[in-house]
Amino acid sequence: MTEANTESNSAAPMIRMQAVNKHFGPLHVLKDIELEVPRGQVVIVLGPSGSGKSTLCRSINRLETIDSGVIEVDGKALPAEGKALARLRADVGMVFQQFNLFAHKSIVDNVLLAPVKVRKVSQSEARKTAMELLERVGIANQADKYPAQLSGGQQQRAAIARALAMRPKVMLFDEPTSALDPEMVQEVLDVMTSLAKEGMTMLVVTHEMGFARRAADRVIFMSDGEIVEDSTPDEFFTAPKSGRAKDFLAKIL
Ligand code: ADP
Ligand code: MG
Repeated sequence: MTEANTESNSAAPMIRMQAVNKHFGPLHVLKDIELEVPRGQVVIVLGPSGSGKSTLCRSINRLETIDSGVIEVDGKALPAEGKALARLRADVGMVFQQFNLFAHKSIVDNVLLAPVKVRKVSQSEARKTAMELLERVGIANQADKYPAQLSGGQQQRAAIARALAMRPKVMLFDEPTSALDPEMVQEVLDVMTSLAKEGMTMLVVTHEMGFARRAADRVIFMSDGEIVEDSTPDEFFTAPKSGRAKDFLAKIL
């Protein structure tokens, strides 16, 4: 289902952030961030609340503008606005804690809307792809329902299908299971795990440590707007280097 999005500059890392800084008023929320994510890598972003994890994600698809530095996706700098920005957003799928589905549209219409509008895919082609994606995330039988008729886990799987419908090169997940009842967490993590196995480049902010250990190629630990550790999951969970990471792990494990 995820046919490769073929237009790529394969020598470049999929995500590159160089000397990225971001302030909210007096608050310095991203401090000289340096990050390169090779294609196909699954990066888990950990860190205490307020450390800048969401801002990092949001800056990658320009939901937040940065004050200085460079952000490139697949070798291309972030365009400021207009059509180029819409195209870049299409390359970067994002799934949030809140599912943000359109309440007045059916599930299948939620999934096919952006491909028709932004990628100019025909309605019938988009519907076919949308149904394949819903099949893939296990909710094809819910296609004609409205979001409110689905469980939280089903809505989040619909949100993932909607992001995938744009055939993104990268998927960003910002605490995708944090708003779910516990019994629905696994079904969403399962979809994410299968995406990772298919080779999707992913940046995932999550507190699901079991998932982080199993699915991650790499763990980034943020604190106060900085990347404090950048290591393998094994290294991070068994031998964190910094005091801040040790404190964080002591609280959550
Ligand atoms: P995290 O996702 O790690 O909890 P965030 O990136 O959401 O952290 O926030 C980092 C810091 O920036 C926090 O102190 C937060 O209060 C602040 N912040 C986030 N968004 C805004 C905003 N739109 N305006 C002002 N401050 C913000
Ligand atoms: Mg956050």
